[in-house]
Amino acid sequence: MRTFPSRGSPRALLSVVVPCFDEEAVIGKIHRRLVVTLETVSDLEFELVYVDDGSRDATLDLLRGLRRADARVRVLALSRNFGHGMAVTAGLECAAGDVVAVIDADLQDPPEIIPEMLARWRAGADVAYGLRAERDGETRFKRWTASAFYRLLDRLADIPVPLDTGDFRLMDRAVVDAFLAMPERDRFVRGMVAWTGFRQEPVPYRRAARAAGESKYPFGKMLRLAIDGIASFSLVPLRLATWLGLLVSGLACAGIVYAVVLRLFTATWVSGWTSLLVAVLFLGGVQLLCLGVLGAYLGRIYGEVKRRPLYLVKERLGFPSTRPAAREEPADE
Ligand code: UDP
Ligand code: MG
Repeated sequence: MRTFPSRGSPRALLSVVVPCFDEEAVIGKIHRRLVVTLETVSDLEFELVYVDDGSRDATLDLLRGLRRADARVRVLALSRNFGHGMAVTAGLECAAGDVVAVIDADLQDPPEIIPEMLARWRAGADVAYGLRAERDGETRFKRWTASAFYRLLDRLADIPVPLDTGDFRLMDRAVVDAFLAMPERDRFVRGMVAWTGFRQEPVPYRRAARAAGESKYPFGKMLRLAIDGIASFSLVPLRLATWLGLLVSGLACAGIVYAVVLRLFTATWVSGWTSLLVAVLFLGGVQLLCLGVLGAYLGRIYGEVKRRPLYLVKERLGFPSTRPAAREEPADE
């Protein structure tokens, strides 16, 4: 069993990080459900860290309202949309908890599972991750692509990323610190948490349909996330270039032998431009493909060496800060 650290309070602190991007339709609902659920966990204090990832709708105003009504709410507003991974990172960086949960704002991940995750944590698990037993309300296409991606990643990745998990998880402080010590820009959260090791246990749940609003992950963004996941955790595509190269060179050698044999031993030698063209196009295609693979990794290196900050914060409400934040509303504290 885990003994709680005191951290100045007699009870341990649970932080719940909620990344929000254009979620005005669900903010109120998720907040109510989180509060109701977490108040049943009597031996833990909790704080709710909402990260507004550059929403263009009323999300930030709603969050400010929540903060005014409830001192356990903290709001971090990023200066623009930085993407889910960055929003989660920003939230984790500001979360003070001894144990930290990450949950989507759209109620696809039921907050009621958090106490179950806490039970695993108390029993000694360092990470309790949501395992999507069933997914409601998602198109067959999304389900199929998601499932295919997880399986492909599993085959390619150097470390096992658990299948069918999203970013709904609960992490011990030690894991959060390990995660935050990873400086990379391509923040494929589930892979990075898996990479940290420690004791990770699944908690199965039924993935509900979005409560309202639309998925912020249309196909294009999903594809980028998939490429991020694979390129961050696998060098197999780079090796693929070598294997393709070998294969094509092998074919070319066979072609040379074939041509020489034809020339020497048959009378009817027709100079075929079709085969020539096919060979040239094929080789060109393979070369471009390999260049593309190299480019994908090179681009990531370029992104890393620029060493830009991962995200920028324009407003923080409810966080104890060393400098008085310019925008903090006086009525707040
Ligand atoms: N999200 C975010 N920034 C983004 C896209 C999404 O913070 O650029 C948040 C979003 O508000 C939600 C969570 O990440 O809380 C998951 O997004 P979404 O539900 O759209 O993805 P899906 O469940 O469809 O994969
Ligand atoms: Mg969702």
